[in-house]
Amino acid sequence: MSKSYGDELPTQEMTQTTLPADPAPSVKASQIPVTNPVTGAVIGHMPESDAAAVTAAVERARQAQVAWSARSVRDRAKLLRTWADRVWERRADLIDIIRHETGKVETGALLEILSVDHVASYYAHRAPRWLRLQARKAIIPLLHRAQVIYKPHGVVGLITPWNYPYLLLFLDLLPALIAGNTAVIKPSEVTPFTAEWGVGLMHEVGVPADVVQIVHGRGATGAELIEHVDFVAFTGSTATGRKVAQRAAERLVPYSMELGGKDPALVLADANLDITASELLRAAFENAGQACLSIERAYVVEPVYDALLERLRHHAQKLIVSGKGGMEAHVGSLTNQRELQRTESHLADALAKGARKLTGGHTRPDLGPLFYEPTILADCDHSMLLMQEETFGPLLPLVKVADADEAVRLANDSDYGLSASVFSRDLRAARQLAARLNCGDVHINRAQINIGAPDLPTGGQRASGIGRRNGYQGLMKYVSSQSIMTDSRILQPPSLTLFDPLSYWATMRLRVLRRWLPFL
Ligand code: NAD
Repeated sequence: MSKSYGDELPTQEMTQTTLPADPAPSVKASQIPVTNPVTGAVIGHMPESDAAAVTAAVERARQAQVAWSARSVRDRAKLLRTWADRVWERRADLIDIIRHETGKVETGALLEILSVDHVASYYAHRAPRWLRLQARKAIIPLLHRAQVIYKPHGVVGLITPWNYPYLLLFLDLLPALIAGNTAVIKPSEVTPFTAEWGVGLMHEVGVPADVVQIVHGRGATGAELIEHVDFVAFTGSTATGRKVAQRAAERLVPYSMELGGKDPALVLADANLDITASELLRAAFENAGQACLSIERAYVVEPVYDALLERLRHHAQKLIVSGKGGMEAHVGSLTNQRELQRTESHLADALAKGARKLTGGHTRPDLGPLFYEPTILADCDHSMLLMQEETFGPLLPLVKVADADEAVRLANDSDYGLSASVFSRDLRAARQLAARLNCGDVHINRAQINIGAPDLPTGGQRASGIGRRNGYQGLMKYVSSQSIMTDSRILQPPSLTLFDPLSYWATMRLRVLRRWLPFL
């Protein structure tokens, strides 16, 4: 299974063969270079789609949607499950591509693939039931019959980021397609080849070319896409999300926003400190901290603060930072210079304001241009940038707090509200604490893993987003309901009022019945 992409492999020529059916209008002079962050080498170029190409792609998608939505849900879901099987067979290729574009470790790339595979099975099993025609209670039972049908929006525009280029695209694309929409994707300009590979394989298994297409480019291409589609599924930064939501709102098209985070961990006095330490390290340094669900701040109650610092130092020594393949590496490269600069400036600001460095704090040029040591900082406070802004790098700041109440207050002192973690042996108390946290997901004695459970709707509040992915909501956001009521009184005489004598009599009795038997 292991075909390896050398540094030069994903070339523009290879890309051209996997572009949508008629790429010609989209091929402009401007080519976007794609870089392997581990080596710093350019591994290929992607032609940028101009406005005409975006318009044409959406138009093709709109035409293709008629036939695609006419197929049964079961049929669409089965085809996409077949696709996921094909991906699984060729996962070594995909792991290579993801790693070449992002610089992440092998386990990180594998987990992206596994999560999408779970979601494919999940919706293949449930979508036919959830999307079928539903019978509802009518106004007057027997006289009326009420039903709800679910209709796809039409063409969904997916705009996706670079940090999980496979997971965050296909997690949204699968339910959108199963629901009967067609899709035009604008993947991050940093990681276009992962999207090309996955969509190319969809076409190979029989998904029609115009049902799922890709347009490439930077922000302007994404902005153009919003002008034409019927639903926008955006994943990316809060700043961009605001612009995207504004334009979608002006057009009155529905959207979902999966945005940035500043996820807190709350460590209580009865926490298992070894589990807490290893989980904090994993969730702070997974993908070198470039995860929306990274633990970006930890509030530790005073009685266990020093002991936890000691456990963190102990376990951090075991972290392997590497750009090589294999399952043993824990932390890979940062993906962009921008993330490295932000990490360094947040660290400098925190140290200048009194933070204490426990580990790390240096680049690793011996490994590659964008490697940075996992860095743990004690004695942080909310005056520091790294407690307010998303760092998106390998920094784990810790704050000493008096008690659980102070931890909750500080955890909620943020514009973000994506996910959080509570560490405690008292699961009941931890669940009660979870309910006081203003965020979409809470993990107890764990971090970051909700997104791997297809049945759990995940997503943020406030500056972290609107809408959910996964679960029932993750599918149903891609449809709108249409309610149909049938009057079965075919032999009724014509009437110009809602209240003919019979209706009046029935309505009055019905009111009494519904008041005391509300399930009717
Ligand atoms: P970004 O906002 O810079 O870009 C995201 C996508 O939007 C890219 O494809 C980009 O080309 C496109 N884009 C940029 N400007 C646009 C515009 N004006 N109109 C339309 N599209 C535009 O984000 P990024 O740097 O790629 O990703 C990192 C950010 O994404 C972080 O803030 C991270 O927290 C967030 N993120 C959130 C989730 C989540 O599920 N909540 C998941 C991953 C990443």
